Amino acid sequence: MSTLDPMLEDFDALSEIGQTPEGGVHREAASVDDGRARDWLKQRLLAEGLEVRVDRVGNMFAMIDLAGPDAPAVMAGSHLDSQPHGGRFDGPAGVLTALHAALALRADCRAGSLTARRNICLVNWTNEEGSRFAPSLMGSAVFAGLLPPEDALQSVDRSGTTLREALGAIGYLGSDAPPTNLTGLIELHIEQGTALEQAKCPIAVVEGAWGAAKYIIEITGRASHTGPTPMRDRRDALIPAAALILQIRALSDRTNGELLSSVGRVDVSPNSTNVVADKVRLFAELRDRDARRLEAACEALEGAIAGLSADGIAARWEKPTDRAASNFDPALKQVITEEARKLGIEPLRLTTVAGHDALNISRILPAAMIFVPSRDGITHNPLEYTAPEDLLTGARVLKAVLRRLVSE
Ligand SMILES: [Zn+2]
Repeated sequence: MSTLDPMLEDFDALSEIGQTPEGGVHREAASVDDGRARDWLKQRLLAEGLEVRVDRVGNMFAMIDLAGPDAPAVMAGSHLDSQPHGGRFDGPAGVLTALHAALALRADCRAGSLTARRNICLVNWTNEEGSRFAPSLMGSAVFAGLLPPEDALQSVDRSGTTLREALGAIGYLGSDAPPTNLTGLIELHIEQGTALEQAKCPIAVVEGAWGAAKYIIEITGRASHTGPTPMRDRRDALIPAAALILQIRALSDRTNGELLSSVGRVDVSPNSTNVVADKVRLFAELRDRDARRLEAACEALEGAIAGLSADGIAARWEKPTDRAASNFDPALKQVITEEARKLGIEPLRLTTVAGHDALNISRILPAAMIFVPSRDGITHNPLEYTAPEDLLTGARVLKAVLRRLVSE
């Protein structure tokens, strides 16, 4: 039934690229399957007569001309890359609803039912997820001037491949100038939580974002044989690392869980059963909606890391992401609220815990986000699911918002 809608048809086609047996997708940034998803989008855009531009970090842009080549443009879109064995809605929902909204508005212009004063610039940001190349939200960070393009391109994955090499291999190391003369950005995304589902509401206006601090902590000891080395002579880097993981958890417990914390990745060297670990890298993150509480937790963590250094053990940290809690553009939030109401929906107002490209863009342009429901809040998982009718409702609201923004 619902697959008759062209947007859902496109969604199904895109979901087949990098599909996993569990029903999700595995399309890490600049991987072969990310390249195939990009190719699919490119062909789709070319078939609509659109020109595709690729900037030096692989961000893809297509200008949908509604008001002439010199008119300013409203940006809309999200990302096509996924977490390893991730879901198929996180990112593509925003790209495809934006594409179809823009095409529908172009048809309205051609039919004479819409006079636009602005164009729409569709975007697919490179490496939103950050699972293969750190940091996450990379393409939008470069675009917003928050990350030098060279730093992004030199980012290395676990196998030693740089983003530059990976983008080159899939044909997306571009040289086009990114678009200018932009007036704002709207990103539709799945909620990745359960608030909408519980409220039985299809749309949320995103108020702003929690702050996030991400750390890479490196603890160095000394490698030795796990057999003959006496205990007193061991400088096992994994022991202080384990203690630190528990201390990071305790930072959250002290706030009754208000501060969110995790260590999601541990790299152990040489990671051999017969060798006392000489180097451990922990990837830790702290998130909080309260800026001061987050700051205090960061100080406590940095103090705890400093406290690990002892005889034969050294610890140091870097903080590749330090994002303060922030708010989206009030005027754009108002437009989303009003347009949803015109469609008979009273939108929820939510604050996002997860990072999104729109947060980077909000540093240089007015930006706002629309959330659609995620079943059971499951995300970064093949079971991630948004019902077709919810995607279509999101698409309708996004189209109404963009229609108003290009008319103003
Ligand atoms: Zn996403």
